Amino acid sequence: MLAADFQETSDNMVEGSVTIQLPVAEQARLNRKLADTYHRYNIDAVETENRNKYPRRFNVKVGKIGLAKLLFKEFFKYFGHWDVVFSRPCTYGVFSGPVGGFAPRPDLCVGCLRCEVQHPEFVTVTHNKELAELGDSYLTSKHIATIDEESRKGSVPVRGQGYRGRFGGPGFDQMFTDMSEIVRPSRDGIHGRELIGTSVDLGSKPMRLKFGADGGLLEAPKMMTIQVPFFYSPPPDSVATGIVPEILAEAADKVDTLLFLPENTVTNQGLAGPHVVPIIAPGQIGNIESHAKGTRMVEMSSWNLTAWNQVKEHPLLVSIQLPLAGDWMSTLMEMVDNGVSIIHLITDHHGVADDGRFVMDLYQEAHFALVDKGCRDEVTLIGTGGIAGADHLPKAIITGMDAVGLDYPLLIAMQARLTGDTKTRGAAAVKLPSNLDKGWGVQRIINLSCSWRDQLLEILGAMGIREVRRLRGETGRAMWCGHLEAEAFGDIEGFPGGEH
Ligand code: SF4
Repeated sequence: MLAADFQETSDNMVEGSVTIQLPVAEQARLNRKLADTYHRYNIDAVETENRNKYPRRFNVKVGKIGLAKLLFKEFFKYFGHWDVVFSRPCTYGVFSGPVGGFAPRPDLCVGCLRCEVQHPEFVTVTHNKELAELGDSYLTSKHIATIDEESRKGSVPVRGQGYRGRFGGPGFDQMFTDMSEIVRPSRDGIHGRELIGTSVDLGSKPMRLKFGADGGLLEAPKMMTIQVPFFYSPPPDSVATGIVPEILAEAADKVDTLLFLPENTVTNQGLAGPHVVPIIAPGQIGNIESHAKGTRMVEMSSWNLTAWNQVKEHPLLVSIQLPLAGDWMSTLMEMVDNGVSIIHLITDHHGVADDGRFVMDLYQEAHFALVDKGCRDEVTLIGTGGIAGADHLPKAIITGMDAVGLDYPLLIAMQARLTGDTKTRGAAAVKLPSNLDKGWGVQRIINLSCSWRDQLLEILGAMGIREVRRLRGETGRAMWCGHLEAEAFGDIEGFPGGEH
């Protein structure tokens, strides 16, 4: 069997075409060549400092007279130990500037509250309103701060003292992932000594293999592979042209994922390439022929049977957008019946459909409808909307997506500030840093991608799952806070939805 054009990927070698039978020695030589050229997938994160100062977490207000009294007392108590005298009452350096606590350094405050507890008469620590005002009810300042750190370091954020947030909540916080498997493997997969695959396939796989009389495969799958189960969604209109698409296109190339962009942006800015997916209106679908430079996939911006019939046999992969609005399930089934192989489910930035339901429910509906129909592997489901943190990624996959789109997190990685309506797709005003340049922006996106992939590996490793493809639709590996509460408290009088 001659694999004429091997394509190198992280965890598998994809055979391009199946043609002729080779002697064993030649086959062995080819296998050796293939093994020698194997390159393990890796994302190169490099610490990339913030360009804009991020709002600090706390404000520290110090009463000068109270502090003077304390220093006077401690001057005698710790005479000679001036570092001690001038650092107190904070061990984090907030009171250790040139003039001590008379000009505190609140940027260093971690909010431990020791100073306020010990000296309530002259120290007050409060949350910084400027930080609290970032984001909105869904994409909170905590998400933004985390994304900022991930994009700066490219690693998994580590915080001490355990998890201090709440357990359970709206949106993706409804889901707990099951990491208590008795078969939990070692951490070898997380530290790279063993492989956990994060590549996913986009396109259609046959539900069964068919062979001809000569033993050759009759129907090869029409699909492509990207190395991470996420892709970059188009930026909002206000930054849809210029440097932002350029940054995202280069980052998509380096990470080996895809960037979806309106086709006029692709054409006008010369961004066509294997990692860019032009979005084309059904009426213009004939333009598919004009996209060259290795373009592998295009996207149709809405479902239209006539336009689909025009391109369904085209060698490029074609995905079709499906907003989760109205009777979307009927449209989904119509698309599947007509052979659409990649369906892109879209909601607003909060992951909410027009009927108010959250994407985790809708993704499950779509996934299990295809499972029931017996064609799940023939269709790739991708979804965009509501991804605001690294944990949302595996949760969207557990509910049935093959891959998900990142939208606002990419802008936040570039330290953009969003204002106005941040729920409706594309409606928010985006203020980019004035000193944004391409190299810095690309590395920040790469860092974010690296951090989120590493966090995905943590979850997969903890679950004992060796590749992300197997996580798709694995709802048995997750628990819903609401279900657990109903099970535990449902019989108690007054519990919402309870029996009494
Ligand atoms: S809250 Fe803690 S870290 Fe902040 S100033 Fe007070 S002692 Fe220092």
